[in-house]
Parts: sequence; C-alpha cells; structure tokens
Amino acid sequence: MKYFSLQNKQHVVSFEEAVVQGLAPDKGLYFPERIPAFDKAFLDDIVHKNDLDIAYAAIQPFVGDEIPEAVLRQIIADTLSFPFPVEKVQDNIYSLELFHGPTLAFKDVGARFMAGCLGYFRRNDTRPVTVLVATSGDTGGAVANGFYNVPGVRVVILYPSGKVSTLQEKQLTTLNGNITALEIDGTFDDCQRMVKTAFLDGELQSHVMLTSANSINVARWLPQMFYYLLAYKQLVTRYPDVVFSVPSGNFGNICAGMMAAAMGLPVKHFVASTNVNDTVPRFMQTGAYTPGKATATLSNAMDVADPSNFVRILELFANSLPALKNKLTAMSFSDSETVATMEQVWKDDQYMLDPHGAVGYLGLKKYLADTGLDKNTAGVFLETAHPVKFADTAPASLQDKIVTPERVQSLYALKKVSVQLPADYNALKQWLTAN
Ligand SMILES: *Cc1c(COP(=O)(O)O)cnc(C)c1O
Repeated sequence: MKYFSLQNKQHVVSFEEAVVQGLAPDKGLYFPERIPAFDKAFLDDIVHKNDLDIAYAAIQPFVGDEIPEAVLRQIIADTLSFPFPVEKVQDNIYSLELFHGPTLAFKDVGARFMAGCLGYFRRNDTRPVTVLVATSGDTGGAVANGFYNVPGVRVVILYPSGKVSTLQEKQLTTLNGNITALEIDGTFDDCQRMVKTAFLDGELQSHVMLTSANSINVARWLPQMFYYLLAYKQLVTRYPDVVFSVPSGNFGNICAGMMAAAMGLPVKHFVASTNVNDTVPRFMQTGAYTPGKATATLSNAMDVADPSNFVRILELFANSLPALKNKLTAMSFSDSETVATMEQVWKDDQYMLDPHGAVGYLGLKKYLADTGLDKNTAGVFLETAHPVKFADTAPASLQDKIVTPERVQSLYALKKVSVQLPADYNALKQWLTAN
C-alpha cells in the first residue's frame, strides 16, 4: 500500500516511510491510496474466525509486503494481548471496554502496534530515533509503555502541566529509562503545536531524527479498526444492526471505525460524541470548520479544539458533507450532563463509566432516542478508559466505588520525574538538541 499526503496527492510514500515520518513534510496527514475491501465470505463467517486472523485480515492490506507475515502476526499478537469485552449495560446498550491493556485506555492498541512496526523498520539502523509525542493524557502513558525499552528508540512526551490526572501523570513520569516527560506550562493544543513545529524544522532534524507517535501516525490510527471488528463479532449473531458511539477528541479512534466500515464492516451508523469542544458537531450543522480554543473539561483526553484526524474522515467521504451525514452524527455534551450520567448509570445499572465513556453513552442514547431504532439494533459506546484514570475528578458519590486494578496500584507510590518547559517552541528545540 502507498500513502499520499492530504496536502498534496502527488506526494506518495510507502507504509514504512509513512510510519517513520509520521507527518508528511508538507504537514499533511498520510492517507492510503485506496480503500481495501474485506472478503465478504470472511465477514459473513466472522464469528468462527479467531481474533488474530481478523486483525490480520484488516491490517495486512495496509502493510502489504513491507513486514513479513510472521513478524506482522507477532506484532498483532503483542498488540491484542488483552481482552476487548462487550458488556451489556442495558437492553440493547453495550459498552465496548477498551481499558484492559497495560495503561488502562484504548491507546494501548495503537501504541503497541506502532512500537512493533517501528522496532521492525529500525532493526538494522544504528542512529537512534526520537519519538516525539504530545498528549492530552492517555497517549503519553500508552506510548511510554509501548516503547519502553525498545532498542534504538528514545521517547519524548509533552503534556500540559496540571491538566492530566494523577494516574495519567504517574504513567508518563515514572518509567524513566528511554522515556522523558516534558511538562509544558500550557494546554494540549500548545503541546501539539510545538510537536508539529518540530516536525517542520529541517534544521532541528539535521541533528535529531524525529518521528511521531500521535494518532496522526498511520501505525497508531489503523490498528484501532481491530476492536470494531471484534465487537461486531461478539454481537452479530444477536443483532443485525450495530451503531457505534465514539467519545472523540482528535477523531483518530472514530476514523479507524469509519475506515473499517468503508472496507465493508456492516455498521449502521457512527455517533461522534464530544464534550464542549464541539468543533465537529458545529461543522456537521453548519458546514463551517471554525476551531477556536480548547476548553478544559472532565473528559480531558478530548479537550481538542482542532481535531487532526477529521480531515481523514472527510477524505473517506470525498469531502461530501451530505455523504458524511448519512453515516455520522456528531453531538456535544457538557460536564454537568457527563457527571449526571455517571451517577445515573451507576445507580440504575451498577455500571461505572469514566467521563469519556459517559460522553459516548450520552451520544448513543440521544441518537437512539432521536431515530427510534428498534430492538434489532445494538447500540455500542466505546468505554475508552478505566474510570480509575479519572478518579480525581469523579463525582464525590462515586469516588469510593471505583476499584483500582491491581496492575496499576504500585504506580501511586513511584516518584514523578519531569522536565518543566514553557509553551514555547524554542525551549523545546533547545532541549531536544542539548539532550
Ligand atoms: C484519546 C482519548 C479519547 C479521544 O480519542 P481520539 O482518537 O483522539 O478521538 C477518548 N477517550 C479517552 C479516554 C482517550 O484517552
């Protein structure tokens, strides 16, 4: 498969180049030259396929012959080393739990897959590569964990000071080794802008070999298709129709689901659920894309005003808003709605939502109510993180009901190590060159 830059369709690269570069030199996101199609017989028989074969069928066309089959299968096995259960919350309402990985959020999937690909592509290269990444909370931990101790790779993570949760910060700042956390005095959008500027700085890159592990990287974006297929497999014998509601910030996760649908996965509809950072819901209503500034919310991993991956969604629909509206509805919800929902769902269903999952749940319920879909439809919201990641800001009535999974308990005792920098590109450049 070849990939072109969404800024310039003439700029075409291999999968390896797209993974290693992250972003095209012209600042465009890479996009596959064609949309592969699933084998219909394979999809019809998906309940009898094993998860690793399903993932392989989804990703292999995007990798082509650039990674040998045995290696790619091993990368997939490392990526899917934890379960993706679909849990019933109410009749017809299901939670696709994506938090059973090492850092308790769905970003483990993309980060682990990308680490495997990059490790393979760099296997004969002696020059160290720096993975530079901005995080609104969960990316950093997943990338740090996925790349920890990968030889020849150093990871530098920018995160907005005071705007990530305690557990998230511990996940970023306690591994050390080949991982450095830069604590930026600013917002996630500042961090993202600094990282993007570094990728455009040829002078910096003559000293430091950089790559990106943000969801703009195709090796992080595309493997997120896997769990849409695995959820479909778990539901298809009971429900002819599936609707997915995806709590969205940078829109990489939902864009992967929409790619799987473009390849033939029968998904009835997608709902993009956002917090008050509602650039996309407003765009869907008015056709005008006017990002503005990010607002801090309880679902902080979605505090994104200018979602990078939305251009990929537009590309999937040939930039036709009416075509997009047939497949996607976007809705925004406030923090008070989010909190009320977390309390309500715990009270009525004894299911603990995190604030992101709660936004997904809200979008799903509203969409189903608005459209009056029947009992043949499974409504699935993606529970993108474990509630304990956001225990600090959970409603008081729920605080003591959130159970900390054993695998993260020891983190709280570890000492945070970060480097503090202003939200200024030159400070980042200086640090990268000096270290
Ligand atoms: C990153 C993140 C999101 C947003 O995902 P995008 O792919 O950026 O839309 C939602 N929920 C959680 C918990 C996250 O970490």
